[in-house]
Amino acid sequence: MATTPVSQALTRGGAFLITAISPDDVFTPADLSDDQRLIGQTADEFVAKEVLPLIPDLEQHKEGLMAQLLKKAGEVGLLGGTIPEEYGGSGLDKISATVLAEKLAGYASFAVSHGAHAGIGTIPIVYFGTEEQKKKYLPKIATGELLSCYCLSEPQAGSDALASRTRAVLSPDGKHWILNGQKMWITNGGFADVYVVFAKVDGEKFSCFIVERGTPGFTPGAEEKKMGIRGSSTVPLFFDNAVIPRENLLHEIGRGHIVAFNTLNVGRFSLGAYCLGGAKNVLAASSKYSKERTAFGKRLCDFGLIKAKLGEMAIRTYAVESMIYRSAGMIEAAVSTPGPAVDKTLQAMQVLEEYAIESSISKVVGSETLDFCVDEAVQIFGGYGFHEDYPVARAYRDSRINRIFEGTNEINRMLIVQMLMKRAMTGVIPLIPAAMKLGEEVLAGPSFEETPSGAFAEEERVLAQAKKIFLLAAGAAVQRFREQLAEQQEIVAALANIVMDVYAMESSLRRAQKSSATRAQAPGGAGDAAQAFISDAIDRIEKEARTALAAVAEGDALTTQLAVLRRFAKHAPIDTIALRRRVADAVLAQDRYPFEGR
Ligand SMILES: Cc1cc2nc3c(=O)[nH]c(=O)nc-3n(C[C@H](O)[C@H](O)[C@H](O)COP(=O)(O)OP(=O)(O)OC[C@H]3O[C@@H](n4cnc5c(N)ncnc54)[C@H](O)[C@@H]3O)c2cc1C
Repeated sequence: MATTPVSQALTRGGAFLITAISPDDVFTPADLSDDQRLIGQTADEFVAKEVLPLIPDLEQHKEGLMAQLLKKAGEVGLLGGTIPEEYGGSGLDKISATVLAEKLAGYASFAVSHGAHAGIGTIPIVYFGTEEQKKKYLPKIATGELLSCYCLSEPQAGSDALASRTRAVLSPDGKHWILNGQKMWITNGGFADVYVVFAKVDGEKFSCFIVERGTPGFTPGAEEKKMGIRGSSTVPLFFDNAVIPRENLLHEIGRGHIVAFNTLNVGRFSLGAYCLGGAKNVLAASSKYSKERTAFGKRLCDFGLIKAKLGEMAIRTYAVESMIYRSAGMIEAAVSTPGPAVDKTLQAMQVLEEYAIESSISKVVGSETLDFCVDEAVQIFGGYGFHEDYPVARAYRDSRINRIFEGTNEINRMLIVQMLMKRAMTGVIPLIPAAMKLGEEVLAGPSFEETPSGAFAEEERVLAQAKKIFLLAAGAAVQRFREQLAEQQEIVAALANIVMDVYAMESSLRRAQKSSATRAQAPGGAGDAAQAFISDAIDRIEKEARTALAAVAEGDALTTQLAVLRRFAKHAPIDTIALRRRVADAVLAQDRYPFEGR
């Protein structure tokens, strides 16, 4: 499938904190092309027809069933999205790949297995494989004839992946690599044919290898007993003098971390999209149930506290969706714009690195929003939510892993700030001049800036102030701790939370503005969702900034900074209870997420 060029202003990764963009600059679900919608429809139909009926057997780990299902997905072209057409894939554009990931979330175990194969199990070969490796593996991975997986974690090396103890040494005749060690938690590991394995050459140089099932000395272990995603395969792998052909080194010796971390960038972005689909599914189930169940002579959905839950689930899902499609649009625009790199694959890799901050945001906010939604769904179902015969109990268990794998949310929060600081220090994004300008503004005292007018004027103003709050808090933290800031993890996490909320606020607002320019907004529409989200987000941002500043400054300096913070965070009160009720009514009117495709 050809990529769809996206008309959009190019912005650097992380630059959203200091640049202003217009609604026309953001890609939204309303901008999906017919082809992109069709991909979503195909995935939807596949899940409904082929996956959902098998859930009871898949949950019981019926031998070979998940592998069969993946192969079936391959037959209808759902596995080759990341693989270029010349190697038998469909070379999906980033937006289509996002739609696909979202729609496969109907059964989390399938979504995870799909991601391990078609995402992180394939990307290393697509981006770093030799021509021979690509020709040998990719066409078969695209059809599902070969199933793959990504093998980084070890019993004592998870977040700290570079502490790997798996070793590779060249055999005396120089023809083979001999691998020794153990991997842990490998999704698809029980049935895969192709294992992308990370190991240290001579115990020092972190590198990557392709290992095939049946390799002498290599044994996948027994299935782990898991809290959730029970339909997926998760096993340890054992390498006991495993003999691997020399040509199965993937990329260069000592450059395995480049393969590992760039692959995770892509995986994190998709994980956010899978979570988005999951959140929509539990919202639909909760809406239906809240109409069927009665208490005190009323339907559950007629109680304010149930409406508050449905409304908030939809509002947060709207924010996640707005961010993810905006990021997908930026990535796609950058990939399809001619760049300095001659090689298209290399250019795609550079673009994915460029938007690594946005990918981490997708992962963290996607997984935490899904966790919020499944938790509220269980609450709406009451005791039945706690029973395995009802769908939300499984969704609750399945959701939890998303905050742990593909880099825990703690690690991703650190990464967001680390990457931003690196970009600031190297001048890739002019954060330092922006912070200095803000410092001058603060010293000059309150000014009579031109205030925005028209619809969403208050939200526009609040968004601009939120960006200033980030600069205020981050500037103070960097000044105090300088290179040692990374060691102040609580402050770093507070800054990351501000960054994520700013991106969510802006993405929600621009999408609402874009949609209100083309269609009248009914009560409970996107405008209500964006307004409620922004009003709550600025309060969260103020709190995070206060926590950070109090750890950074003291005495008069702190008093002054908190006064500035209060001035920036000031906002007109709005009735978020009424907004949430209206959004809940929109959910109930359709029994689903009400902003689909809008
Ligand atoms: C079901 C499942 C499927 C998985 N699939 C795969 C797969 O296909 N391939 C693969 O390679 N791996 C896979 N994993 C492994 C997964 O990526 C790791 O579990 C994850 O990276 C966390 O590592 P860990 O479990 O060793 O936890 P640890 O790294 O020990 O972390 C424990 C806690 O400490 C925190 N922590 C760690 N370091 C820091 C730090 N520097 N600062 C602050 N807090 C920190 C973490 O955030 C976490 O809260 C899977 C795991 C599970 C459970």
